Amino acid sequence: MKVRCICGNLMVEEDLKNHEEYSGYKDADYFDLLESNPSTVQELVDRMPRTELYWECKSCNRILFFKKGKIEVYLFEKDIND
Ligand SMILES: [Zn+2]
Repeated sequence: MKVRCICGNLMVEEDLKNHEEYSGYKDADYFDLLESNPSTVQELVDRMPRTELYWECKSCNRILFFKKGKIEVYLFEKDIND
């Protein structure tokens, strides 16, 4: 997969020179899994929530969230500690 950021930076999957890759899942999905009391570690691993993929552009620090059928783009707005 290749994605050109709004800033012009070309990001290519598995080539991390232009972006960082992250993945995560909703805490609520994970807590639901724990409450379902998986009986083995393997069952826990097999039922882990689906992870969401997101990239950070190394040029402008925009965050791109890969959602079903679309990419949501976020740009840092303000440090709330200022
Ligand atoms: Zn960018």
